[in-house]
Amino acid sequence: MYTIDLTGQVALVTGSSRGIGAEIAKSLAAAGASVGINYRSNADAADVVIDEIRAAGGEALRVPGDVSDENSAEAVVKTTADRLGRLDILVNNAGINRDRLVMRMTAEDWDEVLTVNLRGTFLPTRFAIPLMVRQRYGRVVNISSVVGLSGNPGQANYAASKAGQIGMTKAIAREVASRNITVNAVAPGFIEVGAAGGMTGELNEEQRSQVLSRVPAGRFGAAGDVASAVLYLASPEAGYITGQTLTIDGGMTA
Ligand code: NAP
Repeated sequence: MYTIDLTGQVALVTGSSRGIGAEIAKSLAAAGASVGINYRSNADAADVVIDEIRAAGGEALRVPGDVSDENSAEAVVKTTADRLGRLDILVNNAGINRDRLVMRMTAEDWDEVLTVNLRGTFLPTRFAIPLMVRQRYGRVVNISSVVGLSGNPGQANYAASKAGQIGMTKAIAREVASRNITVNAVAPGFIEVGAAGGMTGELNEEQRSQVLSRVPAGRFGAAGDVASAVLYLASPEAGYITGQTLTIDGGMTA
C-alpha cells in the first residue's frame, strides 16, 4: 500500500486561514509537513488553523502578507523557508471574486481579481522557484477553478484569472521540469466551505439546486475533496506529473 509521507518537508499554503486553503494546510501537516499558514487580514482565523495543526502534533507557522504585493510575497516565502528550514511545496490558493455581468463590471473589479488571483500566484512562485532549484526538488500546486475552463456568466474577471493560472502552470512546468520540480493545477467545481462564506456561500437556495442539477455526483464538493488531490500532487509520488490541471467537480465538466 502507498502512503503519502511528507515528514521533513516544508509547505507554504497561501490563503490558508479558512476554506479550502485551511483544509489543504491541515492535510499536508497531517502527512508530516511543516506548514506556513498565510492570509491577508484575518489573524484570528489563522490562529484557529495553527492551533488545530499543533493540537494534532503538527508544526505550523503564521506568515501573514498580501501575496499580490511584491515585497510581502517575497517576505512570506522567505520567512517560511528561513524559519522552517527549506521549502518543498508551494500551494497558491489565495483567491477572491468580484462577480458582476461584464457590462456592469468596473475596471477596479477586473484589476482587483486579476491582481490577487493571477499576480498573487505568480509572485510566490517567482520567489519559491529559486529555492526549489537549489534544492533540486519542488512541488507547486495552483488552485484554479472549473470556471477557468468553461467560463461562467458574471465571472469574466474570475474566469480570466483562473484560465491565466492554467497557462502559467504549463509555462513554468516546462521551465523547471528538468530540476525535479513539478507545477500543476487543480480546478475545483462547486466546493462548500461552511457557513463562513467562501465561493458557494453567496448562492441562494434556488441557485444551489440549479447548480446541483449540473453535478452528476449529486452533491457539492467538500474542501477535503480538493485537499486530497493537492496532497497527492504535492507528494514525491506525483513526480512524473507536471503542467497538468486536475478537475475536481463531481463530473460536472466530464
Ligand atoms: P475563502 O474561503 O474566501 O478564503 C480565501 C483565503 O485567501 C483566505 O484565507 C484569505 O485571507 C486569503 N486571501 C485573500 N486574498 C489574499 C491575499 N491578497 N493575500 C493573501 N491571502 C489572501 O476562499 P475558498 O472558497 O476557500 O477558495 C480558495 C481558492 O479556491 C480560491 O483560489 C478560489 O478561487 C478557489 N476555488 C474555490 C471554489 C469554491 O467553490 N469554494 C471553487 C473553485 C476554486 P483573509 O481572510 O485574511 O483575507
